[in-house]
Amino acid sequence: SIMPATLAAISNGARHGILFKGGVHLENLSALKLLAVDKTGTLTEGMPVVTDVLVREDLDERETLKLIASMESQSNHPLAKSIVQYVKDQQIGIISGIDIIDIPGQGVKANFNGRSYIIGNADFVGNEEADSFADGIAARLEEEGKTVVFLKDDDGIAAMIALKDTIRNEAKEAVETLKQLGIEVAMLTGDHEKTAKVIAKEAGVNDYIAKCSPITKTEFIEQALTKYQYVGMVGDGINDAPALAKSTVGIAMGGGTDVALETADVVLMKNNLSKIAYSIKLGRKMQQIVK
Ligand code: ADP
Ligand code: MG
Repeated sequence: SIMPATLAAISNGARHGILFKGGVHLENLSALKLLAVDKTGTLTEGMPVVTDVLVREDLDERETLKLIASMESQSNHPLAKSIVQYVKDQQIGIISGIDIIDIPGQGVKANFNGRSYIIGNADFVGNEEADSFADGIAARLEEEGKTVVFLKDDDGIAAMIALKDTIRNEAKEAVETLKQLGIEVAMLTGDHEKTAKVIAKEAGVNDYIAKCSPITKTEFIEQALTKYQYVGMVGDGINDAPALAKSTVGIAMGGGTDVALETADVVLMKNNLSKIAYSIKLGRKMQQIVK
């Protein structure tokens, strides 16, 4: 049977927009040593805005944007949604129902009109080609904390789009409070090194790992568990789900994808990162009463 203190803590959480899928998660939160935090959609709003577009000389910009948006309209990734919005805002029609392969943490692929296309980060389209496409421009954009994605067609890199995401209002303070509670914070992201560095710094996170695949995120949690025993992970995407499952306490952003919400032990209904520290304090109080 469930203890009154546990029940009280769970309902307190509910009033604060925190869904605990059981009392044990409060218990685990009270002992948390390390929290791994996803970047896009978790530390940031996940609503990046397109800031720069560069299209190969032999291509028509609107046609190229149409193709990119048509592919991205089949993806749930925050970058994809923003790109689609940007293209729609320019009154460019989008082709629906293109068959894509969505590769979490990398990008999307499609075969269309007898040609093959891939959209995603530099690793996905090929680093050398990406670097030489626009001589140093991608690197400069990343220094500004922007995420750069590329379109590659059968003739090489066809376009580059840069997007800038904003860090959540409460992120920096939330990280600071966690540190005060004695919790180590590390940021995990599939994004590029330079972009990761800028965002981590803005959020006051000292440790970060860039270019993470869903598998690397999971491996990070496994490693951390051997050292700390109580390791949390907060994320919003499909790409975070395996790491959420591996961690002692998996925390999902309420606005995240279904898989993340289902896999997580705790859901932050209002996407408010400060509720993590609140949950830990709630867990600690509950433990004091139960003991
Ligand atoms: P994060 O870990 O920061 O949430 P992801 O792992 O979801 O980021 O994505 C990592 C990188 O993969 C993105 O920064 C982007 O470069 C690329 N990517 C993933 N999905 C897409 C997509 N649908 N379109 C373009 N790029 C993508
Ligand atoms: Mg994310």
